[in-house]
Amino acid sequence: MSRRPIIAGNWKMHNNKAQAKELIEGILAGIKDLDADKMPEVVVAPTYTALWQVHDLIKNEPKIALSAQNVSQFAKGAYTGEISIDMLADFGVKFVIIGHSERRQMFNETDEAINEKAKAILDAGLIPIICCGETLEQREAGVTDSHIEGQITKALANLTADEVIKSVIAYEPIWAIGTGKSCDAVEANRTIGEIRKVVAKLYSQDVADKIRILYGGSVKPSTIVEQMAQPEIDGGLIGGASLEAESFVALVKGAM
Ligand code: PEP
Repeated sequence: MSRRPIIAGNWKMHNNKAQAKELIEGILAGIKDLDADKMPEVVVAPTYTALWQVHDLIKNEPKIALSAQNVSQFAKGAYTGEISIDMLADFGVKFVIIGHSERRQMFNETDEAINEKAKAILDAGLIPIICCGETLEQREAGVTDSHIEGQITKALANLTADEVIKSVIAYEPIWAIGTGKSCDAVEANRTIGEIRKVVAKLYSQDVADKIRILYGGSVKPSTIVEQMAQPEIDGGLIGGASLEAESFVALVKGAM
């Protein structure tokens, strides 16, 4: 089963206009000569305020796609401060990250809202990157697999098999995010294998074999090759190491 890998950079709340321009131009220069047929799907997720500019700079470059970091579950209306999926589609966005642990923990994003966002994204023809992952306490208590099963089951509720095949899951152990302490590649592979079993139980083995599942959590140029060598890992969702063109391009090359 061949699944096209993804290297996705989550810029989080970094980069003003000038910084976003410098970073995307550095990435474009770094991937310019890479063989498109061997490249992973390269995705960048700037802040909302940088989306238009980044869209403008990459619109003629098929080697790179745009993601948003969040979206409202609502189509339109009196939702001050929110951004709808139509607005993102207008900006050439292809992917939307949902359920990131920072949004779950700091902004009270619930499993139900994540499921509604997934539906809104898929209905609009875009692709959700659905994040899941356990805390250190949950890992130490031995409840990692059951916790993730709950998150995935709720996130995918009422999605069709075709919608799930189009979606992307990112397994991001919370204790590995931004800590410099990556999850051991073999253990990340095992956990992602468990996520595939959940998808197989909910849908079918065929759907589980087709959905792309990324690993996220302190992925670095020094870890990517071992991570990509794992059969269940289809790429990375990367925070810190996506903020420098040189390291992000090294991650892209490490996934080739
Ligand atoms: C993330 O925020 O999704 C992430 C994985 O961050 P970092 O790579 O910095 O751990």
